[in-house]
Amino acid sequence: MSRFISRRFDSLKEYVPGEQPQDKKYVKLNTNESPYPPAPGVIERINDAEVRNLKLYSDPECRRLREMLAVQYGVEIGNVFVSNGSDESLSFAFMAFCDADCGAIFPDISYGFYKVYANLYGIRYTAVPLLEDFSIRPSDYYNAGATVVIANPNAPTGIALTIAEIEEIVKRNPDNVVVIDEAYVDFGAESAVALTKKYDNLLVVQTFSKSRSMAGARLGFAIGCEALIADLNKIKFSTNPYNVNRLTCAAGEATLAAQDYYNDNCRKIIETRAWTAEKLANLGFSMTDSKANFLFAKHESMDGEALYLALKARGILVRHFSADRISPYLRITVGSPEEMQALIDALTEILQNGGTV
Ligand code: PMP
Repeated sequence: MSRFISRRFDSLKEYVPGEQPQDKKYVKLNTNESPYPPAPGVIERINDAEVRNLKLYSDPECRRLREMLAVQYGVEIGNVFVSNGSDESLSFAFMAFCDADCGAIFPDISYGFYKVYANLYGIRYTAVPLLEDFSIRPSDYYNAGATVVIANPNAPTGIALTIAEIEEIVKRNPDNVVVIDEAYVDFGAESAVALTKKYDNLLVVQTFSKSRSMAGARLGFAIGCEALIADLNKIKFSTNPYNVNRLTCAAGEATLAAQDYYNDNCRKIIETRAWTAEKLANLGFSMTDSKANFLFAKHESMDGEALYLALKARGILVRHFSADRISPYLRITVGSPEEMQALIDALTEILQNGGTV
């Protein structure tokens, strides 16, 4: 740490993203990207003319993109906020809806960035332990007296709450904002977007990074009542008005025009998830019931880190977390059928060799 960093941030522990190795080609199953490329229309849209237009600033309102999102989700343009990845929507939500009087509450095992944002902005937070089976008990979040942040499905467990459970949490916190992070919702959970029409304290955050094959373009969005969106805009226009760049905006529009293609990809990923879960179970793994594009699996005979290292030595990257309760587990992104076959082959060999790297 330099001697110049402000005292406020001196002890801040930053978020550590999954590895993005640039040295060799791995079967990359560690950061929940889509195995499928963007739709042909997206690739065509990022053409010469779009690149030439980079000399101009982007539309700070991202009107066209927000209009298309509003149509797709059955809301008005004033209910839609777009951001540089959904991380930015989440970051702005922590900034906008928490302060010295109003802390945050989220599960102890969830997206690691929630804790980092809370620490970055000096927000008190409560990390509520998940139940023994890694599920969330909705009543733990009733009358929270704090901004509630829940990933649904949760990460890295993949377990989803029902829409009725989400609604009850929203209802039981009328004076606080409830943020539902739906990064993985398209792979089998129910979205709470429709509830935003009924509850003015609900903000739903989604991303183009997973089901829409655009992790590298950085595009996310939030849907909520106009007042919540205005609050996010206040933060955005005080931080970075051009938060979504021109190429990403164009790519986002072309993505929304190709929804059938992405629905089809989600269907394929859900099928591949079921296939992989069955093969993993046959190898002796146990798993949570994941509704996301990853599986969360452990093996009785080998610990998570040893498995992670043995897979990495065979050119397959998965994610391992060292936190206490989840250290036996691997989070494995559901890739293409070929990638999952490679994973199963490698695991079969590793387990036969008694885990030697
Ligand atoms: N929420 C959850 C639960 C995630 O796992 C991720 C991916 N790291 C994000 C949000 C952020 O994704 P992005 O910024 O790429 O939209």
